[in-house]
Amino acid sequence: MRIAVAEFSHETCTFCPEPTTIAGLEPYVRRGEAVVASARGIPSYVNGYIQVADDVGAELVGIVSAGMAPGPYTSWMDRECYEKYAGEIVEGLKTAGKLDGVLLALHGAMAVRGIPKPEAELVRRVRGVVGKTPIMVTLDLHANEDHELTAASHGVFVIRTYPHVDTEETGRVAARCLVKTIRGEFTPTQVLRKPGIISASIFQASDYHPMRDLYDRCREWEQRPGVYRMSVAPGFAYADVPDVGLSVIAVTDGDAELAERAAEDVAALAWSLRASFARPLPKPREGVAEVLRLVKEGQKPVVIADGTDRTGDSTHILKELLAQGAVNFALPGIADPRAAHHLEQNAAVGQAVTVSIGGWASEHSGTPVEVTGKITFMGRPRYQLVGPMGKGRRVQDGLAVALDLGDNRRVVVSERMRGANDSAGFEAVGIDYRTLDIIVLKDRVHHRAFWDNVSRVDFPIDAPGIGPADLSTLRYENIPDDIYPIGRRWQVAGK
Ligand SMILES: [Zn+2]
Repeated sequence: MRIAVAEFSHETCTFCPEPTTIAGLEPYVRRGEAVVASARGIPSYVNGYIQVADDVGAELVGIVSAGMAPGPYTSWMDRECYEKYAGEIVEGLKTAGKLDGVLLALHGAMAVRGIPKPEAELVRRVRGVVGKTPIMVTLDLHANEDHELTAASHGVFVIRTYPHVDTEETGRVAARCLVKTIRGEFTPTQVLRKPGIISASIFQASDYHPMRDLYDRCREWEQRPGVYRMSVAPGFAYADVPDVGLSVIAVTDGDAELAERAAEDVAALAWSLRASFARPLPKPREGVAEVLRLVKEGQKPVVIADGTDRTGDSTHILKELLAQGAVNFALPGIADPRAAHHLEQNAAVGQAVTVSIGGWASEHSGTPVEVTGKITFMGRPRYQLVGPMGKGRRVQDGLAVALDLGDNRRVVVSERMRGANDSAGFEAVGIDYRTLDIIVLKDRVHHRAFWDNVSRVDFPIDAPGIGPADLSTLRYENIPDDIYPIGRRWQVAGK
């Protein structure tokens, strides 16, 4: 049995300033055998495919793997970039020899100028090459998709953990379905429903209401004979695309009526829970004041989820921490390539410096902040992730300069957006997270896979930013009029 594997995965933040281009993606692209070999043993969709292929003795044929580059989120993918990698997938399939099936690791939140639904378009092109050969697709739960994708593919399977710790398992679910389909033991039949809800990522954590309710209902449906897999993708609100928002996908064994009933039921439940997908979050001043109160009470460490910053240079939280006299805090990255390079060229570890950092990438980033401190680390850290998300994955950071501003106030100036979704991001720059009362992460939910075991409180703050919790502050052009709660219809009619 020969199965082709390709990956073209991008979460596009169309409100971000820099476009997504070939130049940005190409350094991380893999081709041919490396698509499979580089994924082996690292938690990922493709490693899930590999496990099933190994089990059944199938051969995986790597085509191409293109995905997110490290660093800040990027905006609209240009047409040239999409055509290059979509074209490589199509050409690779044409020359791959006889194939029994195709596995596509997509994301679902790719946004391309001039191609409204890029994943569905890609699968249609793949279909054009492989004909009736089964095609299975795995997606991130931030996927914005509609019936065009399910119409073009045999089966669509979405992860259902946020933080994302089940990519490998979902890869196995898709690959098993493919193998059974190839053997003629299964007739994949899928239905997609979109209840019309858009929500900020920060309200989509899978262990909490309302997402947990939806996934519980999915698991109930999966107890019924014939239901193979239920998926809910809450979607990615920071891509201004026509198929934005929550979707439910049911895959059954040959039973269209059952798939429809299951998908309708979960979609109706999502609609009934729609108000739970948004709530007001504290702004920086009140939020930081509340965090300091929690620390004073001994409820520490507190993790501040500074989730709105998609460029990495926002200074709103740092400014408030300094103004309100916080101590024992750390930010693993304020992105500022100019400041970082200036320090590398003009200063050394151990030296005291004054430097102005951040607040440059967009109108939302705030203004630069002048800090004075001692350099405790300078370099380009290389390390491996240690948390449940991506454990073992190697990270190569750009230049990072760690400053101690006194009173254990730690700020890292970084060449590009830099996070710390587990402790390795701090240890790599010489910061001992156990000494901290406040840990500020430019992240929404992923960090919780590791940090919920460390922190007493996870505290989201809705600073001004490109990825706000309050979606009504964004200017959309392409979303449906009736999408809840910010489509034009809801604004006119009121909530
Ligand atoms: Zn995601």
